[in-house]
Amino acid sequence: MTSPLRVLVHGGGIGGLTLATALARRGHHVDVAELRDGLEALGVGIIQPSNALHVMRGIGVLDACLDAGFEWEVLTICDPAGTTLARIPQPRMGDAPANIGIPRPALAEVLGAAATAAGARLRFGTTIAELADDADGVDITLTDGHSGRYDLVVGFDGIGSPLRRRLYGEKYAPEYTGFANWRVTLPRSPEVQGVVMSAGNLEAKALLTPISTELMYLGAVFAEPEDFRPDPERAHDQLAERLAGFGGPVAEALAQVTDPAAVVHSRISQVTVEEPWHIGRIALAGDAAHASTPHLAQGAAMAVEDALVLALSLDAADSVEAALTAWEERRRPRALWVQALSRAILKQETGTPTTPEEDELLKVGIPGAAHVLVKPY
Ligand SMILES: Cc1cc2nc3c(=O)[nH]c(=O)nc-3n(C[C@H](O)[C@H](O)[C@H](O)COP(=O)(O)OP(=O)(O)OC[C@H]3O[C@@H](n4cnc5c(N)ncnc54)[C@H](O)[C@@H]3O)c2cc1C
Repeated sequence: MTSPLRVLVHGGGIGGLTLATALARRGHHVDVAELRDGLEALGVGIIQPSNALHVMRGIGVLDACLDAGFEWEVLTICDPAGTTLARIPQPRMGDAPANIGIPRPALAEVLGAAATAAGARLRFGTTIAELADDADGVDITLTDGHSGRYDLVVGFDGIGSPLRRRLYGEKYAPEYTGFANWRVTLPRSPEVQGVVMSAGNLEAKALLTPISTELMYLGAVFAEPEDFRPDPERAHDQLAERLAGFGGPVAEALAQVTDPAAVVHSRISQVTVEEPWHIGRIALAGDAAHASTPHLAQGAAMAVEDALVLALSLDAADSVEAALTAWEERRRPRALWVQALSRAILKQETGTPTTPEEDELLKVGIPGAAHVLVKPY
């Protein structure tokens, strides 16, 4: 499609800002409606693997990501005592780097600046108040009073997607996996030059991830009841109790965790929209359509791939409907493969029984998955 489209992106997170940038750079008129009051993101870090960095190059922000993050190439596997078992070089997609770790607020700043520079309008502290979709367009009124008619509305509004609820009610509400993730940002130890994954017979895994020259984060996953919340006074002690079996770099990092307020606890949930990801001119993308457990560090990567492929599909098609159909055909198998393998890895690492299909998937493993995912998206 060559004539400019009017697009509303609902949600200015990682995927939404990537889409806004990709579309605005092509001359489309893009509004982003973001519920939060600004670009602030949860103050922890995120891994951006090579396929995500390939997208970052595609929207012109790779250098800014590299400046703000920490590039790494080798995954180190240790036993729980901290003895190195393997050092696994990570593959690259084309000439994109293998991986970076980056603070989430820094990534949000990079993407927000890119979207604005490309001409997208970011509207903060707002959400959809009214929506009416007909065959030719979608009339939207936002809670800040802005209204407009759009050719396309994309719900990049996260795992709890209000737009998904509008399309499908509670049918695809997030499903709690039974596990929660604990993360703490710490000064980076000089020896943490890439992700250090400590795993073994403990039915738990701990990760150290460099996210800048100064910072790294310690992350771990444990089985928790859905209503569990860490004690605000002693979250650091609760984390230490759970990681008591670990030695080496994990224990050294843990010794630095003295502030309960520094511990970020998030439940791990999953969403799979089994029906079409688009109805009429309204589409769901990223976590709104296919939120995954974080075990391949690919959730945001799938969201940014969704974004760039949607822009490319609009380039190639002669109608919005044809673009959305082509986009979904291309994205669904890959995103759901990531989701299924991530879930299987979670089960394997936590000693949860797996199905025969999951056993088959697990033959690929984390190192093998990295090689699959640097193939074209
Ligand atoms: C513990 C954990 C660790 C992870 N680690 C990694 C990793 O290392 N690498 C990786 O690739 N992925 C990782 N992920 C996954 C990754 O964070 C998500 O997959 C990714 O953020 C999805 O992007 P998105 O744009 O779809 O949604 P989000 O980034 O969640 O953005 C959604 C946006 O929508 C906004 N919003 C919500 N409701 C409304 C509303 N009503 N109106 C307007 N806006 C709204 C939100 O404020 C938010 O800004 C991890 C996830 C978890 C839970």
